[in-house]
Parts: sequence; C-alpha cells; structure tokens
Amino acid sequence: MDKKGFFGNWGGAYIPEVLYQTFQELQKEYDRCRQDPAFWEEYLTLMSTYSCRPTPLTHAENLSNYFGGAQIYIKREDLNHTGAHKANNVMGQGLLVKRMGKKRVIAETGAGQHGMATATMAAKFGLECTIYMGEEDVLRQRPNVFWMEKMGATVIPVKDGSRTLKDAINEAFRDWVTNVDDTHYVFGTACGPAPFPEMVSWFQSIIGIEAAEQIMKYHGKMPAKVYACVGGGSNAMGIFKRFLEEKDVELVGVEAGGHGADSGAHAIRLNGGDASPGVAQGYKTMFLQDEDGQMKHTHSVAAGLDYVGVSPILSDLWEKKQVRFESATDDEVMKALDLTMKKEGIIPALESSHAFAGAFREVANLSADDAIIINQSGRGDKDIFTIAHAFADPSWKKFIIDRGKEYSAQ
Ligand SMILES: *Cc1c(COP(=O)(O)O)cnc(C)c1O
Repeated sequence: MDKKGFFGNWGGAYIPEVLYQTFQELQKEYDRCRQDPAFWEEYLTLMSTYSCRPTPLTHAENLSNYFGGAQIYIKREDLNHTGAHKANNVMGQGLLVKRMGKKRVIAETGAGQHGMATATMAAKFGLECTIYMGEEDVLRQRPNVFWMEKMGATVIPVKDGSRTLKDAINEAFRDWVTNVDDTHYVFGTACGPAPFPEMVSWFQSIIGIEAAEQIMKYHGKMPAKVYACVGGGSNAMGIFKRFLEEKDVELVGVEAGGHGADSGAHAIRLNGGDASPGVAQGYKTMFLQDEDGQMKHTHSVAAGLDYVGVSPILSDLWEKKQVRFESATDDEVMKALDLTMKKEGIIPALESSHAFAGAFREVANLSADDAIIINQSGRGDKDIFTIAHAFADPSWKKFIIDRGKEYSAQ
C-alpha cells in the first residue's frame, strides 16, 4: 500500500472532511498496533480463549479419494465463535477500540452475520452497540436480529432506497459523521476507505499463517492451490496473504455466479463479469454498476457474497494476475454442499460452498502427492432455511407451517 491508501490503481480513502481526523487517528493507532508485538500476542490470546484459534486443518480423505486427484485439506474457520471468520476481524477491531478509548461501536450488516459478530464483541468488551440493517433484511433475517438484540445491541431498520446492505452502509456513515468522538465504525470486510482494507486483511491473515504451518506439518510441502470464496474479500485475503510469499502456490478466488454469468443475476466482479472501475462507499474498485454509476442489483444464493464491490487489494492482485478468479453458480454450489455433507459430515456455509465448488472442478487434474486447501469461511447452520428450501424438503416445509400455526393459536 502506498501513502494514500492505494493498492496499485485501487483503494484510497474518499471520505467527507468531518471524518478526516478520525481516519488519521485510526491509521495512527493501527500503525502503532502493527509495530507492537504485544498487540498481536494479546490478539492471539483473545482468539484462543474466546474463539477457537488455531482452527484445525482437516484432511478430507473421503473427498480426496472420491475425486482421485490432490489431497483436499479444509481450513476450518467455521469453528470460530459465532461460526465464521468474521470473528477474527471484529475481535481485532474491538482491541483497537479499547486502545482508542472509544465507548460505542456501530456496524452495517446485510444478512446479519457481521452484525451478530459485532454485537458479540460489544457485549464482551462492554461497548454500546448500534447495528444498521436494511428494513428488507431485518424482515428476512429475524433469527440474527433476535440474537443481536438479546446481546444488547440496538438494531435500526433502514428504510431508504432498496432497504438493503448499501443503504445500511450509507446510514452507518451518517451516524459516524455525527458521533465521531466516541464511536468507531466496525467495517465488516476488506473494503471501504483506507485503512480498512489493509487492517481487516491483517486481522484475517491469521488464517493463512496457521494454514501454512499446518500444511507443512501434515503434508510436508506447500499446497499446489488455495481456494476461497469472495464476497467483500476478507476471508480470501485472510488465507491468501501468507501464501502470496510462496511463488508456486496458485491462489483462486471464487465469486458468486448466481443464475449464471449471462443472467444479470450474479455478483461476478472480477472473473470476466460486467463490472467496471468506480468510486463508491469511500474507495475505488471494480463495481457492478451501470453507465451512470448506479449500482446494479446482485444475486447469490449466499447472502454474504451478494455485494456490488470487492476488496481493492483483490482488484490489484487480479490486475497483476497474482490471484485467479472463478465463479460458481447457485446450482453448482448446492451440489458441492451436498457432496461435502455426505462425504465428510461437514456443513459449509453457502458462501464457503463456492470455494468447494471451484476446487471440486479442478482437483482431479492434480496428482495424489499434491495438496489443495479450501478455506471454509463459515458453517452452514445459519443457512438451514435456504438449504432446506433449495432441496425442496417437504417435511421441513410442514414443520415451518405447523410452527406458524402453533404461534398464531397462542
Ligand atoms: C460474510 C461471509 C463471507 C463473505 O465475506 P468476505 O469478506 O468475502 O470473506 C464469506 N463466508 C461467510 C461464512 C461469511 O459469513
């Protein structure tokens, strides 16, 4: 990253004047933490006692035998507290907030996963917490809203625009501008104005650091390829960062192919999609936008991949051909999920299942003494409504209807 927060042609910090000082303060604190080995130690202690670090690297022997190619290893970020890699970022930012002496955190959330993680962190650190969520998402994601409120967070439904994630981001920025003195905005992914892309990637880099050590121990050499799904790009950056140092490891990011690249219903920004460079939400990256710069509608069966922008660091790595990008359609993703459950007894999140689908397509081309690592960013329990619906499970449908009737009768 150069001084102005750019990664090659991408990134930067396009922020309103009133936030200038706050960003400088954040940058300064982040720089101090990076140079202080005691901070990383504190982070590791927190993550090994409150979450589940180091997370295991699982040798998926049944899947490896099934495909007959490389040995498949799965990095188990699903075993983190709150069920996904998001904990790495929010707990790290929580430590930073404590150092800055701020008393309140805010966050935006789409599907609710980042809101959940932030509410958890706020409860643990005794911080006041406000979560902005599009009104549409509040209705769709009731279980997450329920838990956030139970952990003491205030969830504010945003009624503007399309009442989804991007409107929630705008509202969170509005809050921040008004309350900069005591409030920190916990950004959820490796996007947004500098220093967020780099800072979030740094906290997530623990994934790759552990995975590199584990694969050396179990397999004796570096993997041939590493796969991760790409929403905003934080779990991908988290596992890729360490392996960027290894010239022979190919890094593969898998985006949401939705109903297919030509359908207009996807979130493909880097793999030959129709995204274009733009500046929005405080940074420059490849956005899915029309000629007037209006953000397009995106779609994915996985709520966490359904985003118009992507990490400026990944746009840079894409341009420099250091990461290859692929996409997987909703249908491919359901098949990969089904196979992983049956063969390994592991339930990946729908987001993570994109990385599995991308890997499954190619793994037979490698030899048995090669290894690949798939980053399982989260667990699929949260997706039970979507998965049961996609598998058209009749007894699940009956269960939901009966529970509804039970409630109405009370
Ligand atoms: C939020 C989420 C993602 C997408 O976010 P990234 O910043 O791209 O990692 C992926 N997987 C899971 C399980 C998530 O909850």
